[in-house]
Amino acid sequence: MYEIENVLRDYAWGSTTAIAALLGRPESGRPEAELWIGAHPDSPSTARVPGDGATTALDALISSDPGHYLGADSVARFGPRLPFLAKILAAAQPLSLQVHPSLEQARAGFARENAEGVPAGAPNRNYRDDNHKPEMILALTPFEALCGFRPVAETREILAHVAAACGSSEAGVPALVGELQDDLRASDEGQGLRKAFERLITGGRSVAEDTALVVAALLSEAALAPHEAELKTVISLNEKYPGDPGVLISLLLNRVSLAPGEAVYLPAGNVHAYLHGLGVEVMASSDNVLRGGLTPKFVDVPELLRTVDFQPVAVPMLAAERTALDQEVFRPPFEEFQLQRIELAPGAAPVPLAQSGAAVVIVVAGEIYLDSPKGDLQLSRGGSAFLPAAEAPVNVHPVAGCTEQALAFAVTTGL
Ligand SMILES: [Zn+2]
Repeated sequence: MYEIENVLRDYAWGSTTAIAALLGRPESGRPEAELWIGAHPDSPSTARVPGDGATTALDALISSDPGHYLGADSVARFGPRLPFLAKILAAAQPLSLQVHPSLEQARAGFARENAEGVPAGAPNRNYRDDNHKPEMILALTPFEALCGFRPVAETREILAHVAAACGSSEAGVPALVGELQDDLRASDEGQGLRKAFERLITGGRSVAEDTALVVAALLSEAALAPHEAELKTVISLNEKYPGDPGVLISLLLNRVSLAPGEAVYLPAGNVHAYLHGLGVEVMASSDNVLRGGLTPKFVDVPELLRTVDFQPVAVPMLAAERTALDQEVFRPPFEEFQLQRIELAPGAAPVPLAQSGAAVVIVVAGEIYLDSPKGDLQLSRGGSAFLPAAEAPVNVHPVAGCTEQALAFAVTTGL
């Protein structure tokens, strides 16, 4: 097994303190948005070769012998690359409203943009690779998010509340609010949501002006209950992105507050935005994002509309399965990954690591000792490892003499 060093991404929305505090490492002085744990070619982890101290990029290491590192089943199903990417994500500010493509859309889109000669990294490039990006997030702190279209009946109640607030303001009810209410009277909820979303995302200046009127009315509205979370989200998103279509699109989406330990999963087509909090995020190894607002970056409206799933959904909460020795495994309905939460009291019995193919591990509290027939490795808080498929089965032990409760997360395939 290999100790690995992971790459910090410094996106502007990142917390400057949360990841450093979690992992017990010095702050960089810059936003620390995401720590990437995996082999995505844009920011692969670096593996230390046991014995000689040499280092190698994890994607290169895996390519040198995919059967050994990933296992035959994983290679047969996902090809000769690590199928998942794990991240520690720390949002101090909202991320862009976004949606991820299906596998078919990603393959077609990546090939099309290559054929058109859109350079990698160009601002108008949608597809950075040919993979889909289903994802999940497990909250480590209270975690706020927007996630999927809410069933329309409740959204209509919220819009009625907005209309009432505007009605008692000097400017009256903006035309946009009435149009959105009309859109959502459609008998087909998905069609109604498509119309409302399209109106907001393509509406340009009048959307910006009417959004300002809505926010002004909400700011002078005394009673935001019973839709306080939703309406406060509109106000705070507008502070950061005044007039952005995403401000009112947020009203169409489930507003989710996760307690630490709770998780949601996000299939292709689910419109979502992480607003605030620290979590463990796991996804198929891809960086394919179509943005839909709350961003100064490029928004490809036609491609976005082809990708969004407009069917309303309940919040896609992901319950943990309890395994032997009271450990939790989160298995979303995706084959690429599952997440195990490993908690070990001092002196506790060893826990079998849930492993199917390769695995990565990160320790966020205490110390653990990884032990397999082929090797072993001790990791302390902030430490991380790559476990080749060929080295399974691995047991996770508390470290003798360590008086602190150990907490670690392990990601492997869902096969
Ligand atoms: Zn996402």
